[in-house]
Amino acid sequence: MQRLRELSRRVEAVYGEIAETFSNYQQRQGLQCRSGCGECCLAPTIEATVLEMLPLALHLFDQGKAEQTLDQLDQLTEPQGCFFYQKLSFDGKQGQCSVYQQRPSICRMFGASGYRDKTGQTSLSTCKTIKSDNPAKYQQSLIMLQSSPPPLMMQSKEQVNELDYQLGNKHYPINTALQLALEQVLFKASYSFEQDNQQIA
Ligand code: SF4
Repeated sequence: MQRLRELSRRVEAVYGEIAETFSNYQQRQGLQCRSGCGECCLAPTIEATVLEMLPLALHLFDQGKAEQTLDQLDQLTEPQGCFFYQKLSFDGKQGQCSVYQQRPSICRMFGASGYRDKTGQTSLSTCKTIKSDNPAKYQQSLIMLQSSPPPLMMQSKEQVNELDYQLGNKHYPINTALQLALEQVLFKASYSFEQDNQQIA
């Protein structure tokens, strides 16, 4: 269990850097997310590794909510948006993250990020809402791709996932990744508990 906690601290340290890097880019280019928008969190295609969900799984465990959350996740019947998204409008587009401090890497890069295109050049990926809210800023950001390149999403995800090959090598739908992270945490916790009991006996 100690190993998982140490690993989680290292993941969180990288998360701090990622959040700052991506947020700085959005602010510098004027490509901030619309206030209260949570459309990204509704997508059933959001993916994360087990490693990326480890800080959240440990947080839930420490709050005594690991088993309960696992049961609730088990009952989800079809692919859907993130379990932790709280909808605040009828269509669900307005809402908020209920686990903001522990959110995985992908959520720290929503909005505007860079990727390598087929020719290896850096391109800009921006959500359609940001594009329609700030068309001039978006065009300006495209013109400035060389002088002010966007941070690369894959590079930042790698920075996290290279911390543990086994837990960071495969992507799953976000709710599944959390399920697997919770199972890891509960397994390690019960193993540590048994070891402690054996030492006492
Ligand atoms: S963890 Fe939070 S920010 Fe990430 S998809 Fe879920 S609700 Fe959205």
